[in-house]
Amino acid sequence: VKLSRGADGAWVTKAQGTLKVDKKHQLANYADFCNECGNCDIFCPEDGGPYKIKPRFFGTLADFEEYKTHDGFFLERQGDAQVIHGRFELRAYSRRVEDGRVRYAGDGFSVSFDERDPLGTLEGDADREIDLAYCHILGWLQDAVYASSAINYLTVTG
Ligand code: SF4
Repeated sequence: VKLSRGADGAWVTKAQGTLKVDKKHQLANYADFCNECGNCDIFCPEDGGPYKIKPRFFGTLADFEEYKTHDGFFLERQGDAQVIHGRFELRAYSRRVEDGRVRYAGDGFSVSFDERDPLGTLEGDADREIDLAYCHILGWLQDAVYASSAINYLTVTG
């Protein structure tokens, strides 16, 4: 779904495409351990250089912000809130969730809504069209990384 403000200032939604997760299991790259040597390109059972095409997670916000030429993610907890910073096609977005309320922000917009009824509870500002697809992807990553069964470098270090 894409969101924008209509001429009367009301939110306008436009459905476009479908987001689908095909695989139950997904590998990721932990940027802090990767020097982009390319070895995994040879032994990875999937096509494409894993260090290039797998989701890249940074261990610190400073690293996430420094490597602006790389897409990737950084997750953190701020009190009871979960926050994820993500870069898609080199554009940065963030998603913060606390008590079921989501704040989704990026270049030129910042909106918040209730997870159970996003369009009915939408508030915020935007001077451009907002693509909610990235918000969904960020939320899925938060759920996966912080799942009670998940043990990974992000949850053991953060
Ligand atoms: S490029 Fe692949 S093999 Fe080399 S350090 Fe990164 S993840 Fe490991």
